[in-house]
Amino acid sequence: MYGKEVTVGGWAQEVRNLGGISFLQLRDSHGVVQVTLLKKRNKELFDLVASIPRESVLRVTGEAKQSKEARAGYEILPSKIDILSKAETPLPLGVVDKVGADLDTRLNNRFMDLRKDEVKAAFRIKSVTLQGIRQFLSSQGFTEVSTPKIVAAGAEGGATLFQVKYFDRNAYLAQSPQLYKQNLMATGLDRIFEIAPAFRAEASDTIRHIAEFTSLDVELAFIESSDDVMEVAEGIVINSLRHVREHAKPELKALGVDIGEPLTPFPRVKYADAVEMVRSRGMKLEPGEDLGTEGEKLLGDVMIEEKKADLYFITEFPTALKRSTFYAKRRDDDPELTGYFDLDYRGQEIVSGGQREHRYDVLTEQMRENNLSLESFEFYLKAFRYGMPPHGGFGFGVERYVQKMLNLPNIREAVLYPRDRSRLTP
Ligand code: ATP
Repeated sequence: MYGKEVTVGGWAQEVRNLGGISFLQLRDSHGVVQVTLLKKRNKELFDLVASIPRESVLRVTGEAKQSKEARAGYEILPSKIDILSKAETPLPLGVVDKVGADLDTRLNNRFMDLRKDEVKAAFRIKSVTLQGIRQFLSSQGFTEVSTPKIVAAGAEGGATLFQVKYFDRNAYLAQSPQLYKQNLMATGLDRIFEIAPAFRAEASDTIRHIAEFTSLDVELAFIESSDDVMEVAEGIVINSLRHVREHAKPELKALGVDIGEPLTPFPRVKYADAVEMVRSRGMKLEPGEDLGTEGEKLLGDVMIEEKKADLYFITEFPTALKRSTFYAKRRDDDPELTGYFDLDYRGQEIVSGGQREHRYDVLTEQMRENNLSLESFEFYLKAFRYGMPPHGGFGFGVERYVQKMLNLPNIREAVLYPRDRSRLTP
């Protein structure tokens, strides 16, 4: 385009005025272009640019010219500049300033925060990750489904339910599509997945919990054991990491992240052995006790040091820890153990799942153990009375995955507009 007239639109990132010459850095989603203004050539435009507040949106028409001095290797000599939208001053948040703002200020001004390349990059990568996941799952014969997010009963315990008014009744926001995806296992849609928001009224303020997250839920029928389920979870991670490596190079560069090939197959550590591993590192934990956040972290360190493994399964969760997961199948040969697993990424759980209990009698017994009213789960239970194949699946936290993939310090960095105890806007 050198020597030709071009028109570009973007944000006025910075104006450097050197007296007779000034440089306007105009930024759009592709990068930054230098617009060079000579006072003696066009005083009117020169003065206009000098008065434009940073971050205003402009349309610039002019000649594209090769330039050794301009960072991009070319510049635009303008003949026309329109101010499409003038920015107020001062800015609520700097875009190119070196001084970092705290996360709250950034989230309160997310539209401005997202003008920074490294902030935007995480969301481009999240999108590429979801593409990779969808591609892999459809190649494996999975059907994408949508299930209701306004529900009559929770599946993950009452403590984290959000109640909503539903006409003249009470309803809840779905904590997970658990009951529906199991319901679908009775239909012949043997392999399904859903990518949708899940809502949890998480009371504590942590770097890995939010009140609304994107849950990738997978369920498959006619399985032999939890191994079939783990295989799918592993496939999703390996393939989506590869997809990101191949299709998000500039974004990974902007974030300074290098995603290596994970060690495969992902190592598997039995829950009981995981407890012993962290105990041998000095953590006070009784056998069978919940690893908790600290235990998970410590196990992550051990797995990296000893096995060079970023990603690993913790398997055979004890029944005692999964009792409230009323739909979890306990092992036939040892009812004190389940086939449930977590997939952890550098010391943080990202996936949790396993084989479900598909036998009506056993399932209802486990529900009674949890003092659940069978009537309020009738729609769920009914499907188990008319032919339900053995099945299993998992819930996969998309933001937690992106957080660990990109070494983001807080899960909120992987959510455009996070929801938590204190945040309802923007
Ligand atoms: P945790 O013990 O870490 O609170 P959980 O056991 O409640 O998680 P599950 O109910 O097993 O989690 O949900 C499956 C996956 O969904 C988790 O592995 C995680 O990736 C994601 N997830 C669950 N709760 C949240 C949350 N509040 N914010 C973000 N992701 C979540």
